Amino acid sequence: MITVPFHQDMRVVQWFMRFSRAVALLICAVALVVLAGWWWNRPLLTTMWPGQAAMAANAAIGFVLSGGSLLLSQSRGPWRSRFGRWLSLAVLAIGTATLVEYLWVEDLGIDHLFGVTPARWSGPWPGRMAEPVAVAFVLLGGLGLLLPVRRWLYLREGFAVGLLAIAMSGLASYGIELAGSNGMPFGRVPLHTTLLLLLATLGWLSATPTLGLTRVATADTLGGALARHLLLPALLLPVVFAFVFELLQSWLGLPETLAFVFMALFSGGAVAGLVWWVANLFDTLERQRRESVLLRYDAGTDILTGLANRRAFGEALAGLLHGQREHDRMFSLLMLDLDRFKAYNDEFGHLAGDQVLRVTGHLLGAALRPSDTAARYGGEEFALLLPDTDETGASEVAARILDAFRGYAWPQCAVTISIGVAQSARGDDAENLIQRADAALYDAKHAGRDRVVTATAVASPEAAPRSGT
Ligand code: GH3
Ligand code: MG
Ligand code: MG
Repeated sequence: MITVPFHQDMRVVQWFMRFSRAVALLICAVALVVLAGWWWNRPLLTTMWPGQAAMAANAAIGFVLSGGSLLLSQSRGPWRSRFGRWLSLAVLAIGTATLVEYLWVEDLGIDHLFGVTPARWSGPWPGRMAEPVAVAFVLLGGLGLLLPVRRWLYLREGFAVGLLAIAMSGLASYGIELAGSNGMPFGRVPLHTTLLLLLATLGWLSATPTLGLTRVATADTLGGALARHLLLPALLLPVVFAFVFELLQSWLGLPETLAFVFMALFSGGAVAGLVWWVANLFDTLERQRRESVLLRYDAGTDILTGLANRRAFGEALAGLLHGQREHDRMFSLLMLDLDRFKAYNDEFGHLAGDQVLRVTGHLLGAALRPSDTAARYGGEEFALLLPDTDETGASEVAARILDAFRGYAWPQCAVTISIGVAQSARGDDAENLIQRADAALYDAKHAGRDRVVTATAVASPEAAPRSGT
């Protein structure tokens, strides 16, 4: 069972798993068609395309086994994955046996399957897969055997890179052959064998989408988006380059130097295209990020004063109460209310009243530390949250705010504010803490306004005594 860390994109992870299963089925299907071609002696089925090299029968068997192992690796049940590993061991054995044949010029008999006789083959080793394919099967088998072992992750990724190199070289030389050149080092590898090797490697890599090389491709990050969009084009570029290079020389008859110049231009253009694409992606993502930051800011900000709104205040208070409960970190809550604001509005109009609210937002914001929260609680009422501040510290802040109001050059007439202070206590919830601060605020109002009243922090809110300043 694969554990998915929180930063993986689950949809992409599932897509990779589905891709892996589809690849396994496709590999099995193609290889079975090739085997049917050998069994019933239908050369077209073994080459899949007229005029191409045939896939060796033992290579087709290797693909069926590897595809089956890949399928089983994703199904539940211990016996299935154990059986899958046996299949991978058989794949490794086919590759190793062929390499042994090459190295010690032995004939182990595996090249004569389905009655293939030298008469039906050209070349020195009838029915034998090419050397790179034999190496590839050793690596494919290794991939399947090492899949469940996390300790061998790096070795497994090394096998996958080796396989990719073989498949890409095969494709590149096929591209060159297609353009007219002969005698490439991997020319003997049939195209469908190369393609199946490439697919099988990608399939095995995708079977563990949250590990190793594929982890970044399934991440829900910018890196993930880049990997998903750019890795495949980057893998295929050498093939296209090789093809274009040969095309320029053999079909268009350009001398090699000129073909080099065109290739340089072509590769420069391709790199520029990739850079443009990456820049575009960065641009779009950065715009989206800024928009979402703005939206988040809007959702938590009071439009008139620029302070936090009631919702953001609720979130900040919940966070601080959590800190108090879990880590015994106290804080203070200040409730503030403009004095006789209704009369101000009645006398000078609502626009002048709004201006007072704006200035209040400015004065409160200026009185606080960055870690504090100033919020418009509603109408002409405000709330301040001061983390790690006891009632004494909070009363000093409140006194500073009173002074700021008294010292401000108000355009119409002096505006004052009343403040109730409550320090958090163990066992507090939002309701009783706000009630304590509110009660202190109303005491300040009744005591004549333009003052601070502190509700002494206690564990049981009902018993909270109050003192005026
Ligand atoms: P107290 O000193 O007891 O608090 O008296 P008060 O007049 O301030 O109290 P009251 O709650 O009776 O009045 C609050 C006023 O605040 C009433 C309303 O007109 C005004 N108010 C609330 N929100 C806004 C606003 O967004 N803009 C303006 N201009 N006024 C507002
Ligand atoms: Mg009020
Ligand atoms: Mg008021």
